[in-house]
Amino acid sequence: MIKDGFGRFSDCQHKSEPDCAIIEAIANGELSKERWSSYLQIKREVKFADDKAGFLLDKSKRNKSIAQLSRQNKKNGGFKK
Ligand SMILES: [Zn+2]
Repeated sequence: MIKDGFGRFSDCQHKSEPDCAIIEAIANGELSKERWSSYLQIKREVKFADDKAGFLLDKSKRNKSIAQLSRQNKKNGGFKK
């Protein structure tokens, strides 16, 4: 039975690690290659979502610091032209 947390090692990439449960399951037909590649695709999409969330967080932090900067400028009479 294959569960989440595939492979013997927590950092297993399921590509060439020895004793990998995934490589073994594909080799003996327990796991279809199609199913495995769709799992990898989902994993990639999840990674992308994580990155996107991180990007948005950074962006909101940037916007906050810009807002603080413009408040300071107002206090100082704004930019001189
Ligand atoms: Zn593995």
